[in-house]
Amino acid sequence: MGARQAQLQNAHVAVIGAGGVKSPLLLCLAAGGVGRIDIIEFDRVELSNLNRQILYRTSDIGKLKGEVAQANLLDLNPEIDIRCFNERVCEQNVGRLLAESPLSVEGGAPAGRNLINRYCLSSGKPMVHCSAQFAYGYVFSMIPQQRTACLACAFPDDHTRSHSSGPVPVNALSTMIAGTLGAAEVMKWFLGYRDFMTVDRKKCFNSLLMVGDFEFEECPRNPACPICSRFQ
Ligand SMILES: [Zn+2]
Repeated sequence: MGARQAQLQNAHVAVIGAGGVKSPLLLCLAAGGVGRIDIIEFDRVELSNLNRQILYRTSDIGKLKGEVAQANLLDLNPEIDIRCFNERVCEQNVGRLLAESPLSVEGGAPAGRNLINRYCLSSGKPMVHCSAQFAYGYVFSMIPQQRTACLACAFPDDHTRSHSSGPVPVNALSTMIAGTLGAAEVMKWFLGYRDFMTVDRKKCFNSLLMVGDFEFEECPRNPACPICSRFQ
């Protein structure tokens, strides 16, 4: 095994959610040989998921996503450790669910995302954000030890929302690109390419109109951010 592969084998990441964006992300991480992946997902597979949640098949409808994802990813790579937690992240369990992993890929509803953002800030552990809606996608990372922008700095309109505003249309082009770029952020962290991570800015794209380069939107740490300004 090469040195780079060994670095991935020793990597451990917690992924919150196993939906549209996380499907390609999880496939990339598992195929790439990330040694341990914790999947935190309480939801079940629905027919309407299948246009973008490429980990699942029609025969999986009604099953727990975490369990199906775990089985499929272990089928892809039986040599890694994949654990699934059929739980919704909340104040009571976030510390337990994320305690062991040195890096988290956040996800879920806004309240859960904000909770994970605060947990990573308070524990000083890096966090990757990758999301998609409509034809748009966004990727960014937070490294608390470098005092980079947090989720609330990057998405100041979102952090006060406690509830999802409901389902939004999204296509698999957007989720596939966002998930793959999110997996790249994870791999950059564990492979030591941390200077190349997307911090203090968001990588943005339109999957239908993309003609080449990604767009970057600067989002430096906001000294007045109501969330991260409370942490060192
Ligand atoms: Zn902030």
